[in-house]
This record gives sequence, C-alpha cells and structure tokens, in this order.
Amino acid sequence: MKVKENNFLEDWHTHNKLCHHAEGIIEDYVKEAIRKGLRTIGISDHFPYEFYTGLDGIPYDEYGMILSETRDYLSTIQELKAKYKEQINIKCAFEIDFIPHQVVKLNQQLEKIKDHLDYILGSIHMLFAPKEPWSFDDSRFLDEFNRYESVDDVYFHYYDSIILMITSSDFDFDIVSHLDLPKKFNKFPEHKELVMEKVVEVLEYIKKQNLVVEINTGGFRKEVHEQYPSIEIIKKIFELEIPIVLSSDAHKPSEIAYKFDYMLNILTEIGFTELAHFTQRKRSIITINR
Ligand SMILES: [Zn+2]
Ligand SMILES: [Zn+2]
Repeated sequence: MKVKENNFLEDWHTHNKLCHHAEGIIEDYVKEAIRKGLRTIGISDHFPYEFYTGLDGIPYDEYGMILSETRDYLSTIQELKAKYKEQINIKCAFEIDFIPHQVVKLNQQLEKIKDHLDYILGSIHMLFAPKEPWSFDDSRFLDEFNRYESVDDVYFHYYDSIILMITSSDFDFDIVSHLDLPKKFNKFPEHKELVMEKVVEVLEYIKKQNLVVEINTGGFRKEVHEQYPSIEIIKKIFELEIPIVLSSDAHKPSEIAYKFDYMLNILTEIGFTELAHFTQRKRSIITINR
C-alpha cells in the first residue's frame, strides 16, 4: 500500500514500551499507523531522567527510557524509516520534560543525538519549587493537590512553569504538549476566568516564540474524557493563528490516531484549515484535505 497522495493524517505523539509504561515495540505502532492509513507517524517516547538531580520521590524509572537505550531507539527508528518508506513517513522525536535549572545537563545529553531528531515535544509533568517535586499527572500523587491553597494555584504553578519552559533560552523544542494537563483527574479551577487569563498569556508567549501546540486526544482516555487543551483554549489558539498538530499520545498501538475523525470535525468547525509538519526540526504546513 502506497501512502495516499491526498492523505494528511499525521500522529505526532506516540510512545512504546521503552518508557516502561507503554505497550508494544516501535514497529507495532508503525504497522498500526499504516493499517489506519496515516501519512506520518511521529515516534516521540519519553526522554530519560536519570541524569537530573533533585528528583527524589519521583518514580522516574517508570516515566522514561534510560540513557543507554537512546542509541538503540534512534537506530531502530532509522531502520524503520527505511523499511517502511514506501508506506508511511516516520519521524524521530522525543517528548522531553522541562526541568527548571537543569537544562544544561539535558543539553549535554541531547548534543550527541540531536541531529537525528525531526522535532521535540516540550512537556511539564512535574511541578517543583517552592514545594518538593511532584507528578501532577500520576494518580499516586493526587493528595499533593491538597498542599496548595486551591486547585487554581496548581494551575498557576503549572502555567508559570510552562512560561519558564517557553521563554528558556536554552530549552530547545518545537511543540508544546498537552497544554492543560492538570485537568487529567477532573481537577478544574474554581475561578476559570482568572486561569483562562493566564492561559492567554501563555499563548501569547507561544506565538511570540513561534511554537506549535498539539491537540492531544489522549485526554479522552483519561478521567477528564476530553482532549488537551479544552475547546475554549483551542478557539483562542485559532484566533492567535498558532499552528497545531494532531496527536494521540498513544501508549498502546491501538490508540494510534485515537478519535482523530471526531477531533478534525471540531477543528474544521472552529476554522482550522492547516496543520504543522516537521522534518529535521524544520516546520512546514499541510492542508486539511477531507
Ligand atoms: Zn507516557
Ligand atoms: Zn506527556
């Protein structure tokens, strides 16, 4: 089967068993993407954490691959790119956490492998100072929400961290991941309008830094049962003409392109006609062609 000329379906956020909390090897995801008729699959597993300090209490060995596995990860993707090049575009990426004050350590690790990457997803899954680090999207840390005055404060802490990530002069990435992740367990702000003001500030930084936001359907499979980010935020993204990509955050091969049809209906209804695309860290635009 050839890649269909008029097909524009691309999934930019997928995992595999290397990160210790996803199922299936990379090739399983590629085969499933081909079966579903995708034009492109981005392999974007979680980057290692072991070289950071101060992550005591964070079970990061369950969050990402280990450093010694990155070489194999990259060469496997190279091999699969060649093997399936007639059927699908395979992109090589990492989802990387922004850990404040430790980007220099990250860059030392990335330096050796950066040439292989088509794009980088920038993510916040943990919140740091002034409190101990905690993983707000890991159900084992749910009690930690109570350490804050209110859920709103968790959101403000989250969005302040996102702004730090976006404006960091040395954290180099292309796509902002799951932009309202703290809602994963149905924790919503009390003062929605105040938090939304903060989100708009974040989006203005994203626009200024010329970044892309992902529309991530992984949230449909979580307690919150909706995509990241919310429709309200997506409409603001459209208004500000910030480019988007579509992603499933698949942690099982069957989750590839999860609810993409449904999501595309919503996106085209809002007015989106284009999606972003990445090759060797260069961004281009593809037209939504349904
Ligand atoms: Zn994951
Ligand atoms: Zn993530």
